[in-house]
Amino acid sequence: MSSLDALIDALKRLPGVGQKSAQRMAFHLLQHDRAAMQGLAQALRAAGEDIKHCQRCHTFSETELCAVCADPDRDARLLCVVESPADQAALERTASYRGYYFVLLGRLSPLDGIGTRDIGVAQLLDRAKEGVEEVILATSFTAEGEATAHVLAEALRARGIRSTRLARGVPVGSELEYVDLSTIAHALVDRR
Ligand code: ZN
Repeated sequence: MSSLDALIDALKRLPGVGQKSAQRMAFHLLQHDRAAMQGLAQALRAAGEDIKHCQRCHTFSETELCAVCADPDRDARLLCVVESPADQAALERTASYRGYYFVLLGRLSPLDGIGTRDIGVAQLLDRAKEGVEEVILATSFTAEGEATAHVLAEALRARGIRSTRLARGVPVGSELEYVDLSTIAHALVDRR
């Protein structure tokens, strides 16, 4: 495979990028911005090497504990469960939540063979035992996100831990990371 084809193939792996856009990006970089190519290559390599998962909440972090988990001033009684580091970042941007997070590694999807073990439910149940009084289920409002919230709520209830769900208002079928901040903030305040 030529270097050009390899570059186009690599770009096509990004979400939302098809053959045409990948080609356009590749030609743009080659023709107009060789310096950006070097920067991109370096940033990709550094990110791949430096960014790991926070040991406590599993979001992305360059240190053992992410900035949120390392902050002792947050409310340890609240634990918010999200599907991805992107969702965690979206909630954090609303600045309306002062508790800690737990980032699932995806959501339940029996058809794709993704079960409770794959998304870290056991770790969540362990984490919830550490003085947490309310687990806020902020999985997405898609069929799979709802199913995941339901399974988690049952598992938590069986262990005597209270859980709440983000309020409606977040459009059905939507991923949290694409919802505007004030909508998320309201859904958080109106949780039930
Ligand atoms: Zn963390």
